Amino acid sequence: MNIFITLDYELFFAQHSGSVEKSIIEPTNKLLEATEKFMVKLCFFVDAGYLVQLEKYKDTFPALQKDYELITHQIKYLHDNGHDIQLHIHPHWEDTTYHDNQWHMNTTRYRIHKFTQQETEQIVAKYKKALTDIVGDTIFAYRAGGWCIQPFSHLKSALKKHGIWLDSTLYKNGYKDNSTHYLDFRNMPDKTEWRFEDDPLVEDNNGSFLEVPISSTTVSPLFYIKYALARKFDKIAHQIAGDGKGVGREGKDNLEMLTKFTPAVASIDGYRLSYLQKTLNQYVKKSDGKNFVVMGHPKAATMYSLQKLKEFVANNHTKHHFTTYMQTFKNE
Ligand SMILES: [Zn+2]
Repeated sequence: MNIFITLDYELFFAQHSGSVEKSIIEPTNKLLEATEKFMVKLCFFVDAGYLVQLEKYKDTFPALQKDYELITHQIKYLHDNGHDIQLHIHPHWEDTTYHDNQWHMNTTRYRIHKFTQQETEQIVAKYKKALTDIVGDTIFAYRAGGWCIQPFSHLKSALKKHGIWLDSTLYKNGYKDNSTHYLDFRNMPDKTEWRFEDDPLVEDNNGSFLEVPISSTTVSPLFYIKYALARKFDKIAHQIAGDGKGVGREGKDNLEMLTKFTPAVASIDGYRLSYLQKTLNQYVKKSDGKNFVVMGHPKAATMYSLQKLKEFVANNHTKHHFTTYMQTFKNE
């Protein structure tokens, strides 16, 4: 099976964005250390709106000039070392400003669907260019910010126009409908890749897009209880690398998680690594057996997750093929 370790490479989006060093640069280096022994290459979905804003403000604020240099340097380094750099869009950067030494995130327009189709096209163009300027013309894959890709009709022509033909956003039974997010993947095909045209949930063998969904499983409330206990008893091992605050879950999401089995992505974030091997084993048995896509965020790395990731790679690198979108799909 192909295993893709994919990272959403980004800051936090609540009041405290966190610093680029603690939330992106340092944990990314630790992820590389944890996987380099077996030459595993990682896939980075780079939050390009952040780059666009850094470019805009860097001449006014010396601190941002430094952040810009750190992040572009690391992206170049990743690309030069065979890691995949692909496009991740969080359009609320359009409404985000910098003053008083910090980013002021405005997530009113968190979903790209809050922008007009014309604005959306401009966002895709501008964000893809920000990445292309750093790594060259190698961007063809997309992951929607916060999984908000529906309705796809809003994005289709923009992605097509700018040469994006692979999406890796969906996960089986994903569902969220709150003040920032909307997604409904409950009718997703039970496969690990398929072509589509107008709707990523509808397979179309002649479609111009390829969906390579994020792998997932279901977890019981016990997972969240165990996690809370693990954190309580070993704060250091479960302390996340990032120094910011995320756009939180809402009350009804927490209630769901604590009362029934809920879908959960295959992930290298923190304690989620505790069910990764089991999820891979499920995929080996049940599916078309082609791809296992794991997601994560540098900012969510912990001592526990880095150790478990090392073990995961060591245990699986001979049985499976760790790869990137570039290596596996570019010549399709
Ligand atoms: Zn993201």
